[in-house]
Amino acid sequence: MSEAPANKGFFARNADGTPWVARRLRLTVWRTFTQGFFLALFFFLLWTAWFSRLGGYPVSLFLELDPLVTFATALSTHTVYRWLWRSLWIVVPTLLLGRVFCGWICPYGSLHQLVGWLFNIRTNRMKLERNRYRQSYQLKYLLLTVFVVLAGFGALQIGLLDPICLLARSTTVALFSAFDSALPASLAGLASAPGTVEPRVFTAAWVIGLLLVGLVGLNLLIPRFFCRVLCPLGAFLGLLSRFALWRIDRDLTRCTDCDLCLRHCEGASDPQAALRKSECFVCFNCLDDCPEDALRFRLPALSAARRPAGSRAAAAATLGAPAVISKRAATEQRAPAVARRRVLLAAAAAALSFPFLRRSKAVSARGFSPKALRPPGSVAEQAFLARCIKCDQCLRVCPTNVLQPATFAEAGLEGLWAPVMDFRVGFCQLNCTLCSEVCPTGAIQKLSRDRKLGRGTYAAAGPLRLGTAFFDRGRCLPWAMETPCVVCEEVCPVSPKAIGAYEETITRWDGQRVALRRPYLRPELCIGCGLCEHECPVIDQPAVYVTAVGETRAKDRSLLLGSHRGGAARP
Ligand code: SF4
Ligand code: SF4
Repeated sequence: MSEAPANKGFFARNADGTPWVARRLRLTVWRTFTQGFFLALFFFLLWTAWFSRLGGYPVSLFLELDPLVTFATALSTHTVYRWLWRSLWIVVPTLLLGRVFCGWICPYGSLHQLVGWLFNIRTNRMKLERNRYRQSYQLKYLLLTVFVVLAGFGALQIGLLDPICLLARSTTVALFSAFDSALPASLAGLASAPGTVEPRVFTAAWVIGLLLVGLVGLNLLIPRFFCRVLCPLGAFLGLLSRFALWRIDRDLTRCTDCDLCLRHCEGASDPQAALRKSECFVCFNCLDDCPEDALRFRLPALSAARRPAGSRAAAAATLGAPAVISKRAATEQRAPAVARRRVLLAAAAAALSFPFLRRSKAVSARGFSPKALRPPGSVAEQAFLARCIKCDQCLRVCPTNVLQPATFAEAGLEGLWAPVMDFRVGFCQLNCTLCSEVCPTGAIQKLSRDRKLGRGTYAAAGPLRLGTAFFDRGRCLPWAMETPCVVCEEVCPVSPKAIGAYEETITRWDGQRVALRRPYLRPELCIGCGLCEHECPVIDQPAVYVTAVGETRAKDRSLLLGSHRGGAARP
């Protein structure tokens, strides 16, 4: 009798006699492809936005798919903005199948998995130990509680740790800009920074970059550390997946309690005992690893007829039923293992911290940060903070690099990493509305060019004003140094110009007759685009600078009473 072919080569039969396709087309193989596809799609969409050429691509797709973004913004604003309903595409499969998003789609999770796989130096025994469930994995549920309670009060902070926001922000601020800077001069044409001669720069790029490296690096200690310990989206999906119909089901008549299914368990969800449904990433690695074929992904009710109903006692009572081997009777734990008191404590801590957050002058109604210059189309500051998820999608798409992640100094703790304009880095282009097109949550409302410029049907409302320019005569070349300069007047893009000049001819300290044009500002014409500040040759602290005074979105910050604004009442 000829022997079965040895398990060699691509098309060889498997050791158990099943054809090669069963090995090559395993669910885990499909999952790897799917993860690769979504990771590539994620970076492709970010890269498209980075080029400021949207080309009809849904560049904010992953943010719109994120159920936590939808849920938290619905809590903080009582609305669901534009495309956020798309998160149902994730919610429904989660209710049926569990956390498939974490195992199959999430680009941040896939990145962690990839890094963990690349730098894997663990022995089999270490792998088993690293993949056992730990108490620290409760932390993500407590973080979720804090974020949800804050969102309920109107302070949206999920973007700090939501994986899609976090990866999108880190990619823009740290990875893409570092890539552009690292390109040698000969390859400068590949730099993806249109509209700017130099690579883009971002405030706090090193902090955001270091956080990314640190969080991904923690994989080397605990596989998928971020997903298991910190991820608030994972916690949210974990709560939903307790209702999932399908799950990994352990056949007690086959399971020998060898624990080998833990070897590559992504979620540390205890498939070898009572499966923690809320932790399971549905990665199917356990199905591959089980030498007894005791694990299946199925509707448990279907399997009841084929095996004892979940307990050895039941098995003993069933005449002719297969013998139970496993000593662990329970096969499922639905709810996350987190004590209610801890959840209550986290909720109370969040509720108590909210008043302190709002004491910040930058966000209180009584004061404001003159440097918190938000992009055109932004809603009023408190509504902005109830919507902005700090994804920095607007920063990525801005062709001039004017948008920067805010620091504490500009926008307080609550506004950290939300966009502000830094006119020393760039300026707001007159005809551009890109940031309003990509904002997934409506912190920047979608704008038409006519609305931005106050044309057509918006003529009566006038143009959107981002702030007002001021002169520092002590630094201005014609005023303070008796040196001719007309840069700000020349570059002012509005018509008629908001910057004019007094012509004077003076006898200078060196006895020369000098013709000067000393600039002044007409605030009713200024739209706060920042071009004058950007171009001012006094580069360290420009002699003309823009502050948030007079911005359209805040009626109480008017410098001039309504009728002075070019005769048009502001909206
Ligand atoms: S509208 Fe202004 S701030 Fe927004 S992307 Fe365009 S240039 Fe940048
Ligand atoms: S304002 Fe910018 S950072 Fe905030 S949600 Fe919109 S796109 Fe994201």
